[in-house]
Amino acid sequence: MTLHQNLIAGEWVGTNGVENINPSNTKEVVGLYASASADDTKTAIAAAKAAFPAWSRSGILERHAILKKTADEILARKDEIGTLLAREEGKTLPEAIGETIRAAQIFDFFAGEALRLAGEVLPSARPNIGVEITREPIGVIGIITPWNFPIAIPAWKIAPALCYGNTVVFKPAELVPGCSWAIADILNRAGLPKGVLNLVMGKGSVVGQAMLDSPDLAGITFTGSTGTGKRVAASSIEHNRKFQLEMGGKNPMVVLDDADLTVAVEAAANSGFFSTGQRCTASSRLIVTEGIHDKFVAALTERLKTLVVDDALKPGTHIGPVVDERQLATDTDYIDIGRQEGAKLAFGGETIARDNPGFYLQPTLFTEATNQMRISREEIFGPVASVIRVKDYDEALAVANDTPFGLSAGIATTSLKHATHFKRNSEAGMVMVNLPTAGVDFHVPFGGRKASSFGSREQGKYANEFFTVVKTAYTLA
Ligand code: ADP
Repeated sequence: MTLHQNLIAGEWVGTNGVENINPSNTKEVVGLYASASADDTKTAIAAAKAAFPAWSRSGILERHAILKKTADEILARKDEIGTLLAREEGKTLPEAIGETIRAAQIFDFFAGEALRLAGEVLPSARPNIGVEITREPIGVIGIITPWNFPIAIPAWKIAPALCYGNTVVFKPAELVPGCSWAIADILNRAGLPKGVLNLVMGKGSVVGQAMLDSPDLAGITFTGSTGTGKRVAASSIEHNRKFQLEMGGKNPMVVLDDADLTVAVEAAANSGFFSTGQRCTASSRLIVTEGIHDKFVAALTERLKTLVVDDALKPGTHIGPVVDERQLATDTDYIDIGRQEGAKLAFGGETIARDNPGFYLQPTLFTEATNQMRISREEIFGPVASVIRVKDYDEALAVANDTPFGLSAGIATTSLKHATHFKRNSEAGMVMVNLPTAGVDFHVPFGGRKASSFGSREQGKYANEFFTVVKTAYTLA
């Protein structure tokens, strides 16, 4: 089997390969991927540092062309890369192809942003002096990504980093190196100079830790667990570097008596269970007012019965497997915790066998949950959601906001008054009205509040807040 190597200083290197296993069929090895050492990581950081002066001054047409070429190739290969994504992560093929198209759109967007770099010119407070405000790249950026969006999240960190003139050391999640290798290969062939993007696949405790310990990274952008995020933060303070964190969520979806039932059920089914519930924007708390509660639970349960859990590549599959054994154990532990806490299991709760050995779990719905239960407070990251009954909108809003997290929040209602009030008073970074809490655009800001995020927003033109630093220059006329 071909070994997919790391890209360090423009060379493909590495000998020891780790098997990338298909969660839909654990007998199947998707590929062999190199695992970098701490020393490899230091070499990659040094290469990125050496490449920075030239790349930071590179022309915008060069950056535009490389990012555009990358977007075009990802799009042209969407079926092939989408299939790889579905095989290594387990989301369904349509979801995986959709995510691949999203990655292409992101590279395309930032190809355009490279041509739109702008500053401001202001008169000084003093006579005969002009003031220019410009944005400059910050240096070497460390990019650490999770397994749940194997191509979109790397794209939305790599594309702006390069667009604004930074160089990159990129560590994808161990479970899904395939799509990241594909991006590095495409960017490399698109003409990126040596050392501008370095791919270091490997363990978080080795490669990731070597990045955290480095004094030569000017910034780290991280998406993953709260625990690792805290380590990124602590190490970044020590090294006086910028950091940007996207971590967990416990996203609420409020359903009011006046909601369109079909809209509410579809939004809950989508954001609770699609992509196997493995999205940081998934809704895991369905906060439902009394008048619609029983109808909503009955309709959602009926909808869940129609969802097919099977191999990610099989036509007709709605929900693929859980990503690995460890995550499956977490999901089933939380299902046990929910039962012990006194929530009622309304649907699912069991692992299921399919033709091939894989990590299959039924979509699972609890009812009669309270917001104080652990299943309502802690992120599960699986196809598990709970219904919390409330008396009215005011209680629904209070419960929605009563969480350590604040990434996304949704409301299903036909009331303009309640929708408007919720948009204004939700303590989340993103608010969805009559839409799933998951499912965002690529050209507008993405990010949360409270324990979900730290630092400036990702995506769209707001990405420049992290990937650039402002300079103020005064000139005597
Ligand atoms: P999850 O539980 O979703 O896998 P993690 O935070 O463990 O979340 O993983 C997100 C990313 O952080 C992965 O690329 C992982 O390898 C990396 N990571 C894990 N531990 C560390 C660490 N100590 N230092 C830096 N990165 C790490």
